Amino acid sequence: MLSTPKKRSFFTRELLHWNARFNHRDMPWKHEKDPYKIWLSEIILQQTRVEQGREYYNRFVHAYPTVEQLAVAKDDDVYKLWEGLGYYSRCKNLLHTAREIVNKYAGVFPKTYEEIIQLKGIGPYTAAAIASFAFQLPYAVLDGNVMRILSRYFGISTAIDSTEGKKELATLANSLLDTDAPGIYNQAIMDFGATICKPKQPVCTNCLLAENCTAFANVEQQAYPVKEKKVKQSSRWMYYFIAGNKDNYFIRKRTEKDIWFQLHEFVLIETNNKKSIAQILKLNAYKQLMPSTASITNTSEVYTHKLTHQILHIVFVEARLQAGTKLDGYQLTARSQLKKLAFPKILSLYVEKMGKTIT
Ligand code: SF4
Repeated sequence: MLSTPKKRSFFTRELLHWNARFNHRDMPWKHEKDPYKIWLSEIILQQTRVEQGREYYNRFVHAYPTVEQLAVAKDDDVYKLWEGLGYYSRCKNLLHTAREIVNKYAGVFPKTYEEIIQLKGIGPYTAAAIASFAFQLPYAVLDGNVMRILSRYFGISTAIDSTEGKKELATLANSLLDTDAPGIYNQAIMDFGATICKPKQPVCTNCLLAENCTAFANVEQQAYPVKEKKVKQSSRWMYYFIAGNKDNYFIRKRTEKDIWFQLHEFVLIETNNKKSIAQILKLNAYKQLMPSTASITNTSEVYTHKLTHQILHIVFVEARLQAGTKLDGYQLTARSQLKKLAFPKILSLYVEKMGKTIT
């Protein structure tokens, strides 16, 4: 096996060779030079699979072809377009940054890495992607995929979530970058991670890097990347009362700094452990909110929705309320209006299932 300087130059050369000859991965934003569209695609792709992201990217580019058009859009319309993608803080930052580009940079996307990374919602990975794809600046992308490839190929046993590991990998990633074609190199390594050096089943038999790959030589592909911490997940139990009558439901917009920010929801009673509906009806939180005359007509099974740090257990309770009922903090909203508002996907799916479509 090669020593490190040769191993590094072999890596870059063979990666670019693979890209030129064998990389057929196609995506609508590939080869895009407009920084606005590159930024849009990168924000959509954070925490989202390419297949799902593709559809949303096309929708956004169609609805808002320029950063100026996104900047003047109504928040509710943008959240509605984002509905179903999850991690809604991305949408909030998207709007904030579009408006900042218009107000501070007169609608012209900033052209330096230092300015790009100052924008809200843009970390080192996204800044490197925009800087290299749009402006050919020499910044190497480094995310979980790139860390996995480098850890395997170089046999790096420093934990990638430690400060030391992050530093080591950042230095290594920058030393491998082809500074004459940083955009092509960055796209190549991202595509390589998605199609060859995949997390679960890397295609080592088809890999041009195999002859110098440490993990492959030691049959240790699954041992890399090394991680220090396990992600802790907390459990939340969310009891959603779909309360109202057949034409109107009580809803509100979520405005707390929490999941689903700015999305709408039905009447919520939340606990941190499982409870029966009989127990829920005895809680003060329920009694203070709902009238004693509410009649429960149906209770759903438990739906589980996993986020990075949280597991949501969601139960839907259909409840009929008497005419004239008012609920603190919630607005009675006509069913026909609901489809115009953005809801968390799991809520709109359940209501669809009830035959009362809101999407
Ligand atoms: S040989 Fe396998 S583990 Fe090594 S870089 Fe190629 S795909 Fe990844």
